Amino acid sequence: MENCIFCKIVQGEIPANIVYESEDVLAFDDINPAAPVHVVAVPKTHVATLMDVPEGMMDSLIAAVQEIAKIKGIDTKGFRTVVNCNEDGGQVIFHLHVHILGGRKLSDDMG
Ligand code: 5GP
Ligand code: ZN
Repeated sequence: MENCIFCKIVQGEIPANIVYESEDVLAFDDINPAAPVHVVAVPKTHVATLMDVPEGMMDSLIAAVQEIAKIKGIDTKGFRTVVNCNEDGGQVIFHLHVHILGGRKLSDDMG
């Protein structure tokens, strides 16, 4: 396994507030939330960036996003998903993750 912070969370070596788990995906509250709801969903398999995603992986991540939105009660009011990719995208953790942000009206600023 990679020496990666999100792999360590997947393996239970670093604690996190787990929101959702499936066979392929783990999701937990972001440690530095940017909105009242801020969850990150990660594949259990280490994949560095969006550019490295194998076919099918996003299906389970999107299914996770739908469940997480329901669990957090933001499915009808709405939310935003973000995947930062590489340097210009602002990616800091190089283990693919989908941010799920909601719980308030988000700004229109897309960066
Ligand atoms: P990125 O900029 O790579 O898309 O986002 C990484 C996210 O991971 C940030 O929002 C950051 O707050 C979050 N994060 C970094 N380290 C940890 C951690 O140890 N635990 C949790 N729950 N979130 C983390
Ligand atoms: Zn990893």
